[in-house]
Amino acid sequence: SRDSVKGFLKRNLFVLFTVAAVVLGVILGYTLRPHKLSQREIKYFAFPGELLMRMLKMLVLPLIVSSLVTGISSLDSKASGKMGMRAVVYYMVTTLIAVFIGIVVVTIIQPGKGSWHSPVAKGRNIEPVQAMKLCLTKRVVAAHESSYNTVEEMVPGSSSSAGVNALGLVIFSMCFGLVIGNMKQQGQPLRDFFDCLNEAIMRLVAIIIWYAPVGIMFLIAAKIVEMQNLADVWSQLGMYTMSVIVGLLIHGLFVLPLLYFVVTKKNPYSFIGGLLQALITALGTSSSSATLPITFRCLEENNHVDKRVTRFVLPVGATINMDGTALYEAVAAIFIAQVNDMDLNFGQILTISITATAASIGAAGIPQAGLVTMVIVLTSVGLPTEDITLIIAVDWFLDRLRTTTNVLGDSLGAGILEHLSRKELEFQDAELHNSVVEEN
Ligand code: ASP
Repeated sequence: SRDSVKGFLKRNLFVLFTVAAVVLGVILGYTLRPHKLSQREIKYFAFPGELLMRMLKMLVLPLIVSSLVTGISSLDSKASGKMGMRAVVYYMVTTLIAVFIGIVVVTIIQPGKGSWHSPVAKGRNIEPVQAMKLCLTKRVVAAHESSYNTVEEMVPGSSSSAGVNALGLVIFSMCFGLVIGNMKQQGQPLRDFFDCLNEAIMRLVAIIIWYAPVGIMFLIAAKIVEMQNLADVWSQLGMYTMSVIVGLLIHGLFVLPLLYFVVTKKNPYSFIGGLLQALITALGTSSSSATLPITFRCLEENNHVDKRVTRFVLPVGATINMDGTALYEAVAAIFIAQVNDMDLNFGQILTISITATAASIGAAGIPQAGLVTMVIVLTSVGLPTEDITLIIAVDWFLDRLRTTTNVLGDSLGAGILEHLSRKELEFQDAELHNSVVEEN
């Protein structure tokens, strides 16, 4: 049994490191908090975490391009069409379920009604909220623009803007992959090139992953050092925070796993076990895009999901499939309605469901993007957009949790889609085999 313990440790070394990083980060953060570090000191302190963010972000662009191009060009157009359709259906269904759960939870808990919210409702001029108002106004304006820019962004103007415009990158790479896939023999050098590029990036990820626990520890510690006093925030927004957490837990721990089980008949929790590092990275970075390299690695190395599936669906999922964000948008909008004593009728709740879904698709996989796209939801039912400031104090925290749910949804989706597409994949394998035999 000593050998089995050793084997277990070896297999789960990274996971243990990563979990330890979270614990140490929290301890370190709370140890330093009483020392009231200055902004500058916090910045230096956060540096190792910032480095991790930058390393991951650096990989995202080549990773999205190389994986999508190879993923799509290695399938024939019929197979990729089918897989694409299934992915869209999965994204839509799970996002709508998430929104539904959010609406039910916030309607039952009623965080914006009665005594819970009195400090928020009465004290609309709460200090920290005021201070952030200015910076938010700018973001709200940006959001107004971004809601109609989403379509524009689907067509990237130049490669220099591609770094921030993941959606354009995804669509460009898909088209490119389709074209190369149709070029038959002539396209082979490009397919080999992107395949090799993808392999090289994943090897870089394998190196960076050693540094990830250190980065995550400092990301978490620095956030704890600089955050507001929890007790204050809790008394104002505790029930709202609870509602979002309960919703995310129901969706992430029960609904999505159940769906996975129903479709694949496999144990969802052992699948989730293989994802732990990606989930913790999402928690640490608040960004599904930055987590993408780790998500790839977990799915391919730990859960052995077919690369043709991960390469196809993960980049798309990380960009548009955000269950956690959709759930959060719905809860937040209804919370704000409750605070304003506004009773929503069925039509308005339906509108919130649709716009929350749209807002989650439009949100980029970067920290707090969902807070900005909230504007779409609020304006659709005539709620005051400046009330976003009411929930800003806890957003950094909820952002981490919803990002984790987003990554979980993408990953379980890859498992489900692999299962649904197994016929096409086997067919493709057989064809490949035949062509090799013929050549010889
Ligand atoms: N931070 C989230 C993500 O990257 C997006 C959001 O703000 O909801 O998935």
